[in-house]
Amino acid sequence: MAAKIITIDGPAGSGKTTVSKALAQRLGWIYVDTGALYRGVAFEVKRTGTDYNDDIELETLLSTLSLELVTVEGALKLLSSGCDITDRIRTPEISMLASTVSAKPRVRAALLEMQRLIATKSDAVFEGRDMGTVVFPKADHKFFLSADLVTRAMRRHGEGSDQPLCEVEKDIAKRDKNDSERKQAPLKAADDAVIIDSTDLTIEEVVGRILHEIGQ
Ligand code: C5P
Repeated sequence: MAAKIITIDGPAGSGKTTVSKALAQRLGWIYVDTGALYRGVAFEVKRTGTDYNDDIELETLLSTLSLELVTVEGALKLLSSGCDITDRIRTPEISMLASTVSAKPRVRAALLEMQRLIATKSDAVFEGRDMGTVVFPKADHKFFLSADLVTRAMRRHGEGSDQPLCEVEKDIAKRDKNDSERKQAPLKAADDAVIIDSTDLTIEEVVGRILHEIGQ
């Protein structure tokens, strides 16, 4: 039987990660942070000094890329060629570079296959920007989380960011614009997604709403 899939899309700071992890734990499913994969590509672009605007250089990088999401003692880790880069992909620079390289069709094509392969192995909650629209258009359940910009910036800032709040807010707004306006797989809700505005909701309330929607 095919694995079951729940997709959770939404902009940065909308609560996707926390909600997806909690939901996956409640259901006993795996949780897949697809943003980490785009961050992994950005990390490797920077580490290798790849010119991502040069198709040949980008293709060379992608053909040797070996990213893997693994769970170690309950925590999701990103490995690149076996090396743990989890703690190195959460900087403001990598966030912005991930948003830039994710607009490249070659990058999206490479990660599309990887994501679909993961989905053949286990029931999973996938979070990202295009899970319900492009990667898993036939997912069992689709959700789109939103929240107002100030709330999202405050959440990100509260996660231990070294940046001042106003900078976090500016960066998030810029990434939202990039991600929503790109031609390839833009950030948007699938027509059949349930939209949840999490501005005034706790994590438990959002998870409760999702469990209710999926009949659990
Ligand atoms: O979710 P996170 O903020 O870690 O994602 C980093 C960046 O990766 C996003 O700003 C977006 O540009 C890109 N991304 C994407 N498609 C996804 C997940 C993330 O384009 N499914």
